[in-house]
Amino acid sequence: MKLIHKTWISGLLLALIVTFFWLRHQLTTAPLLKNYASLIDTTPAANATTEAPFEVSFWGVSTLLFDDGKTAFLIDGFFSRPSMRQALHIEPNKTVIDQTLNTPIFKRAIPRLAGVIPVHSHFDHAMDAPYIAQRTGATLLGSSSSANLARGQGLTDAQIKTVSAGQIITLGQFQIQFILSKHSPGNFALGEIDQPLAMPAKPTELKMGDCYSLLITHGKHKVLVHASAGYIPDAFKNVRADWVFLGVGGLGKSARSEIEQYWQEVVQNLQPRTVYLIHWDNFFLPLSSPLQPMPYLFDNLDRTLETLQPLASAQRVKLKIPQLGVPIQFPDAR
Ligand SMILES: [Zn+2]
Repeated sequence: MKLIHKTWISGLLLALIVTFFWLRHQLTTAPLLKNYASLIDTTPAANATTEAPFEVSFWGVSTLLFDDGKTAFLIDGFFSRPSMRQALHIEPNKTVIDQTLNTPIFKRAIPRLAGVIPVHSHFDHAMDAPYIAQRTGATLLGSSSSANLARGQGLTDAQIKTVSAGQIITLGQFQIQFILSKHSPGNFALGEIDQPLAMPAKPTELKMGDCYSLLITHGKHKVLVHASAGYIPDAFKNVRADWVFLGVGGLGKSARSEIEQYWQEVVQNLQPRTVYLIHWDNFFLPLSSPLQPMPYLFDNLDRTLETLQPLASAQRVKLKIPQLGVPIQFPDAR
């Protein structure tokens, strides 16, 4: 009897040790971006004299700065990127945000920054948006949950515009349509932020609220920003976009058939010429170090790209990975 008991305990210990090392390995290893060098967008850096109608720069996760030289707006604006250790109790890191806003691209854009637009209210999208609005004078445009997050951080109602699904907002020559969408699987904080939420807070207190895709029209050009890797079936059946910023966060944990279905619902319907992949980076690492894909514990960019690359080739859609802070000029004739 004693022997059986001992064997059982040793088996359990062995299982715990194996699990510990497996988890540690999954947490510390990630796909290598250098394996996808051919996908990295190599747009030459834009300058102030650009002739392009507008440009977009990528700042990790789904943070994108749109700027046409007259009007600019920022999607999400998540720069704090708390480390995994810091992520149990989070708040905007004003030093890091200020440093980012002091880079030449932002310095140029801030005088004309009309809006900061969180696509939903999870911390990796919305956490820094209220402070950025406060610091730059831009209006925060978002769901009622994002509005409550902003109120909790002291932004006045004069600087908050609550939007609803289907609404179109005009900022200069940009028209931004808020299309209701679905979050990727593995939503860690469903629900609404139904009262002003002060920071610091637990990440789970920053509940998603509405999840939007943004259809951005500028003259005859259309860009869809689809930040979260979920979809509402047929939502894009009658929508077209020349370029899509496609969120792939968590997608590599899905079955290949589900990844293919995602591509069909979003990209095949929209028929873009170029797809820029976003939300693939490890947002527990700071922007001061080069972007790296999420560790295998949370995602698998290898599997996502192995599935998406043949689909893109078959449909003659260019698949690109944008570089951190390097503006892409639109229309991209390349
Ligand atoms: Zn989210």
